[in-house]
Amino acid sequence: MAVVGAGAAGLVAAIFAASQGADVLLIERTADGGRKILISGGGRCNVLPSVPAPERFVTDSPAHLMRGMLKSWPLHEQRAFFERDLGIPLALEEASGKLFPQSNRARDVRDGLVALARDRGVRLQFDTLVTGIVASAPGFTLRTPAGEITAMRVILATGGLSVPATGSDGTGLRIAETFGHRMVETYPALTPLLGNPAAGHTALAGVSLNARLRAKSGRRAVETSGGFLFTHRGYSGPSVLDISHVVTRHPDVASGFSGAEASAKAASRTIRAQWSPLGVREWTARFDAPSASVASLLGRHVPARLAEQLMTEAGVPADRRTSSLRRSERTALIDKLTSYELPVIGDEGYKKAEVTGGGVALDAINQRTLESKRCPGLYLCGEILDAFGPIGGHNFAWAWATGRAAGLAATEPS
Ligand SMILES: Cc1cc2nc3c(=O)[nH]c(=O)nc-3n(C[C@H](O)[C@H](O)[C@H](O)COP(=O)(O)OP(=O)(O)OC[C@H]3O[C@@H](n4cnc5c(N)ncnc54)[C@H](O)[C@@H]3O)c2cc1C
Repeated sequence: MAVVGAGAAGLVAAIFAASQGADVLLIERTADGGRKILISGGGRCNVLPSVPAPERFVTDSPAHLMRGMLKSWPLHEQRAFFERDLGIPLALEEASGKLFPQSNRARDVRDGLVALARDRGVRLQFDTLVTGIVASAPGFTLRTPAGEITAMRVILATGGLSVPATGSDGTGLRIAETFGHRMVETYPALTPLLGNPAAGHTALAGVSLNARLRAKSGRRAVETSGGFLFTHRGYSGPSVLDISHVVTRHPDVASGFSGAEASAKAASRTIRAQWSPLGVREWTARFDAPSASVASLLGRHVPARLAEQLMTEAGVPADRRTSSLRRSERTALIDKLTSYELPVIGDEGYKKAEVTGGGVALDAINQRTLESKRCPGLYLCGEILDAFGPIGGHNFAWAWATGRAAGLAATEPS
C-alpha cells in the first residue's frame, strides 16, 4: 500500500495501516515530512483541543458526514494515542482550552510520529513528488520524476494549498480531480485580513484585545470571539482567523458584479466588531452614570489607543465628558464600540492561511472508510477534504481522525 504525503494525516494513516500488518510505503516530496506540524502553534504544536466543536467546522458538504468522520476517533482516544503510543504527554493551556506537548516542542510531535511509523514497519521515501496516479487494474501506478511505483491501494494525504513552502501546493488536489471526484472550490481559511490603509489603523499596529466579531457567510451568521490583533497590514488573532473565510470566499467584490449582486456580496464580507463584552445597553448605562471623562471611561474597557481612534472616528473631542456628550456623538460612539465595520480590503491568502477551505467533497467518499466512491482502492484524508475547523487544535483532530480511519480501512479485505 502507498500513502502519499507524510503530513499529519498521512503519518497517522501509515502508522495505523502498518499496525494492522500492511506493507506500507509512505511517499513524501520534502526531505523530512511533517513540516506543518513543525511550524504549528507557533512552534509549540497545538496537538488537540480539550473540547470537540464539530458545530464550528466549515464544509459545503453534508455536515453530518463531517461530524461522523470527526467522531470516528473521539478526542480522549486521540489524546491517549499521543500520550501512550507516542509517549508525548500533553498539557492543557487553561485560558485557551488547547492541548500542547508538555515539552512545548512541535518537533517532538513530528519526530515522534515519524519514529513510530518506522517502528511499525512503514518504509519512508522522502524527496519524491507524486505527479500523477492512474488506476491500473489491479491497483494503481504512481508517477514520480524518478519512475513509477505500483501499489494495490493508495491513501492520498497531500493536504491543501496553505503555506505551500511546507510541501502542499495543490498537486494532490489536482490528482484527486483526475478521478472525477466532486470538488468544492478551494479558498484560504484561517488567514489574516488586510485593512484599508486609509482607515488609519496602521497606527494601532501591536494593539491587542479580546473582541467579538460577526458576519454573514451566505445565509449563515458567523460569530467568533477571542484574541484580536491590529497588525501593520490589517487584522489577525484567533477571532479574525476564525472568521476570515467570509472574506476569502467573496474575494472580488469590485469586479464582475454590479448593482444588487455586488451589494449582496459586499454585505457577505462585512465584518462587525464589538470591542468589549459591553453591548449597547451596557454602554448606554455607563454614559448615563455620573459624569466622567469619555476617554477614561472607554479606557477602562478597551485599549487606550483604540479608544482614542474610536472617539476620533465618532467625532467626539478628546476632552469630552459624558455629561456633555451630544446625542449624535453618543449614538456614533456606541455604534463604533459595539458594531464597528472593519475596513477589510482583502486577505493574506494561502501564504499565511493555516488551512484550505473546500477540496474533495465529503459525499465523494465513503463516510466510514474514506474510500473514494469513484475509484475503489483510493482513500482520501486530512486537509485535502472539504472541511476545516477553528483555531485550537481542531484541524489536527480532523487530520488525525481521518488519517486513522483511512489507514485502518485500507487494510480491510475487499
Ligand atoms: C502556520 C500554521 C500553524 C498551524 N497550527 C496548527 C495548530 O497548532 N493546531 C492545529 O490543529 N492545526 C494547525 N494548523 C493546521 C494543520 O497544520 C493542518 O490542518 C494539518 O497539517 C493538515 O494535515 P494534512 O496531513 O492533511 O496536510 P499537510 O500537513 O499539509 O501534509 C501534506 C503532506 O503531503 C506532502 N505532499 C503534498 N503533495 C505531495 C505530492 N504530490 N507528492 C508527495 N508528497 C506530497 C507535503 O509535502 C506534506 O508533507 C496550522 C497550519 C499552519 C500553516
